[in-house]
Amino acid sequence: MKIIVAKDAGYCFGVRDAVNMAYDATEKYGSVYMLGDIVHNERVVKDLANSGAKVVETLDDVPNDSPVLFRAHGTVNELWEESKQKNMNVIDATCPLVHEIHREIKKLAEKKRKIIVIGDHGHDEVVAIANQVDNAVIISSPEEARQMKKWRKAGVVSQSTQTIENVQEIMNILMTKVFDLHFVNTICFPTKRNQEQIKMLADTSDVMIIIGSFTSANSKRLTQLALEKNKNSFQVTCADDLKKEWFENIRQVGISAGASTPDELIEEVKEKILNINEEILD
Ligand code: SF4
Repeated sequence: MKIIVAKDAGYCFGVRDAVNMAYDATEKYGSVYMLGDIVHNERVVKDLANSGAKVVETLDDVPNDSPVLFRAHGTVNELWEESKQKNMNVIDATCPLVHEIHREIKKLAEKKRKIIVIGDHGHDEVVAIANQVDNAVIISSPEEARQMKKWRKAGVVSQSTQTIENVQEIMNILMTKVFDLHFVNTICFPTKRNQEQIKMLADTSDVMIIIGSFTSANSKRLTQLALEKNKNSFQVTCADDLKKEWFENIRQVGISAGASTPDELIEEVKEKILNINEEILD
């Protein structure tokens, strides 16, 4: 059996840098505080907690003089203001590509366009993007786009981890609703690369495995993408979720993972598939 792991499976550079910054901070200060989990992955959150990273609800919960880390997917302006007023030690782990989305959405708003963000309602990244301008409308699906009123002039950005297919479908509908439409494609390049590789691997493999937490919208979207190409696609959170019957009589397994999945989980899954294959051949 051949196992192919997608080149860009797992951590994107933004998440990797943020996790490393959190570890560096725990080493330097003994602990670091975060408003919510650093990534949507239980293993990463647990390992970081063991090294001294603490999740709190508000900036008031951060002890004096302790550092607070603002996560990769961006932070609303009110929290930046509050941290400044409180003179807090902020470690900014916002991904540069998220900063870029914030810049782009502000430029569109300066041109007096109404603003649309294509993304998941309530997702921290989307909330922080929409927070950069007044009255942004969030659209997560073609159904929501169909319900929109007609506008004369609008600007659109997307959450960094959206699939090209969902964005394209929504844009096709928006073109029938908005006369002067300016779209900035802010799906980030690590996401685009991972999606392309998943489509290609799911197409050429007998079984496709996507590793990621079910709390990660990104991982669920990648699984959906794989399923569209290959019905033998499965999402697992770790090696324990793999089932022997998936791997009987197959020649090739493709593996990829969401942007919040650490390398060691990918390795564990690969190892377990190799073991299952040996059991089947015995
Ligand atoms: S998914 Fe893209 S935008 Fe988000 S942290 Fe990773 S590289 Fe940055």
